[in-house]
Order: sequence, then C-alpha cells, then structure tokens
Amino acid sequence: MTRVEPDPAGAPAGGRAFAIGLRNRFRGITVREGMLVRGPAGWGEFSPFAEYGPRECARWWAACQEAARYGWPAPVRDRVPVNVTVPAVDPGRAHAIVTAGGCTTAKVKVAERGQAEAEDLARVEAVRDALGPSGRVRVDANGAWDPDTAVRMVRALDRFDLEYVEQPCATLDGLAAVRRRVSVPVAADESIRRAEDPLRVRAADAADIVVLKVQPLGGVRAALRVAEACGLPVVVSSAVETSVGLAAGVALAAALPELPHACGLATMQMLTADVTADPLLPEDGFLPVRPVEVEEESLRAVEVDPAAWRARAEAARTAADEASGAG
Ligand SMILES: [Mg+2]
Repeated sequence: MTRVEPDPAGAPAGGRAFAIGLRNRFRGITVREGMLVRGPAGWGEFSPFAEYGPRECARWWAACQEAARYGWPAPVRDRVPVNVTVPAVDPGRAHAIVTAGGCTTAKVKVAERGQAEAEDLARVEAVRDALGPSGRVRVDANGAWDPDTAVRMVRALDRFDLEYVEQPCATLDGLAAVRRRVSVPVAADESIRRAEDPLRVRAADAADIVVLKVQPLGGVRAALRVAEACGLPVVVSSAVETSVGLAAGVALAAALPELPHACGLATMQMLTADVTADPLLPEDGFLPVRPVEVEEESLRAVEVDPAAWRARAEAARTAADEASGAG
C-alpha cells in the first residue's frame, strides 16, 4: 500500500481530482466528482455539486481546508451510530436491505413520484418487521408531500411507530403546518443548505430535528457552532462523499455533545469505488471514529484531470477572501 505525501499548504494546486460511479442515480447524477487535498493534518475532500457557484463553494472549500490543514475537534465518542437507507423499493427488497444492513435504525424513502401510498405503507411495514419492535424507523419524503397529504400519510405510517419524518414538505411553512398537526417529530434536511438556515428553521417552528452536513456548512467547527446556535437535536448526514469526506461527517457526529439519533453517514455503499483500501463502512450499525488514509492505487483507479477542480477551488478561495474583506 502506497501512501501519498502531504502538501504542506493544502493548496488547490496540489489537488487530486476523482470521478466515481454511483450505484443508483442520486440528485440527477450518476457520477460523483470532486477533489482531494492532502495537508499536514490529513486528507480533505472538496466535492460541491456542479450547480454551486464560487460563493457557495467557498464553504465546501473551507471544510476541505479544515480537514487537510487543521484537523478536527476532539471526539467525545469513539463510534457513531448510523442508519441503513431503504430506497423506494418493494417490501421484499426493503426487508432484505434492512436485514443485511446490520443497523438498528432504518431510513425509508417515501412519497416517490409515480408510486401509490399503499406502496409506502407496505415498505415501512416490511422495514418495521425486519427491525423488530426495538428498532427505529424514520421516513424521508424529500419535500414531496403537500401539508394535507403529509399529515394523512404520517398518521397512517405512524402505525409502524415512526422515529421522525424527514422533510415531509418542501417549504418551512409546510413543515411548520405539518408539525402542528402530527405528534411524530419533524426533521429538516433540504431546508438546510447554508449556515443561517437552521436558525430560520427554528424561528419558523418548522422542525424538531435538523439534518446537518459538514461541507455545505464550511467544516466541522462551523457545523458545531451552527448546532449550538440552533439548539435542536442534530442528525449528521453525508453529501455522498468518498471515505475522506465521510470522515469529516463522522468527526462532527463524534464531537457533538449530544447525539440522540443515528446518523446518515453509511453512504459509502452508494459509490462503486473508494479512494482508500479501508472504506468507512458500518460495523454492527456504527462507523468508527478514525482517520482515513488515501491509497495511491485506489485513487489512481478513479483519478481524472484536476485542472477544472483546481480552478473551482481557486475560485472558491477567492470568493471566501472577498467575503471576508481580504480581496
Ligand atoms: Mg433527506
């Protein structure tokens, strides 16, 4: 196994770009792309989605720099509970995914376009059956329901005892309306894209739980500040990164003072390859808190021309400088 030597500055010029296939289409993409930077503290991942411009990318770059140059705050736990994710599949497949996953919490996708409500009920029933009464079942509608449908469906699905419902509606008003009418806790995911959003969610009484991701919030420390300011329980989720990016999510989950819910960080299986020989995969429903070392052979197998990614990182760095008044 060949290790890659650090670039002391952790600069864009030293970045190594990757393109890794997704097993299933996600956010309309079939290939996950990004760049890895090695600094004195370790590896950082910079993988903003294609539609994000320099100002939005500045936070993703800050998260990458934190990982590469400074490292993360000390953990308060040595492993992080994670959920298995069940896509909008038939009940038999859902049951098999949960049984194979080894997790005691399952997140079930519901409100899939073109599917009947009965399919959601059958899928969640199969997941509850697979987990048994002590497991936790959360559902994620990805904002697809209108408030009335959400209220009806959450009440119907709660016969299988829901931990929470994630993003039942697209808007804060919709989330708040649902939250007033159901006893199942509401989590905000897509409503949180920027550091100021969790405070808006809280001010609108729109959620009981916030789903936070490290890269869009600008790093582990920034996300910890957001969590503290927001005051709501946090579920840490990934942006479907390589194990390098996932390690940052694990670091956030490991540093939070309270972690009452399993996290959405068991996403390595969504990618067809990784940049390390030792991927961050769940063991008995937990991810270990540990550094991830990139392996040269693994990285080379997925490596692409870095020019565009280095330029994107430079633009993000410039945007960050301008925002802080240094440009
Ligand atoms: Mg979600």
